[in-house]
Amino acid sequence: MTKKILVPIDISETELTQRVIAQVEAQASLDDAEVHFLTVLPLYPYYATLGARYVADLPVMDDLETDAMKKLDEIVKQFSLPEDRVYKHFAEGAPKDKILELAKTIPADLVIISSHRPDFTTYLLGSTAAAVVRHAECSVLVIR
Ligand code: ADP
Repeated sequence: MTKKILVPIDISETELTQRVIAQVEAQASLDDAEVHFLTVLPLYPYYATLGARYVADLPVMDDLETDAMKKLDEIVKQFSLPEDRVYKHFAEGAPKDKILELAKTIPADLVIISSHRPDFTTYLLGSTAAAVVRHAECSVLVIR
């Protein structure tokens, strides 16, 4: 069976560490694995809790999804992977929940995640990475 790797990408993180790219490429080539990239848009539930008047001001979700996928495309281009092995996913909600959900449905053999946003150097493990390590049913490779 083809190995499947899930790589969650925070598109607001413009500076992707080179080590994530290198590790993904290395792990993918080991098993000729499929690489599934996922970006999660956490915006909507946040606005929704503020009330309907804010939701009305939001650009339609379709536009946000299109823009997020465009950004994801650009980021994915930095990875040197066989095109027929690359999949891109979009979800809206809490990043950690959506990452864990997709890991289950793919189902992924491995999740590769960076420990925190590059600019948050003081934290050992960000909250998303921590939740994925704790709850994922597959192996998780945390990049520092
Ligand atoms: P921090 O709390 O320092 O931001 P996180 O644990 O939230 O650290 O983020 C670490 C990693 O989790 C990111 O590099 C990315 O792989 C993943 N991640 C975080 N937010 C998202 C998101 N919205 N969509 C996809 N992946 C995400």
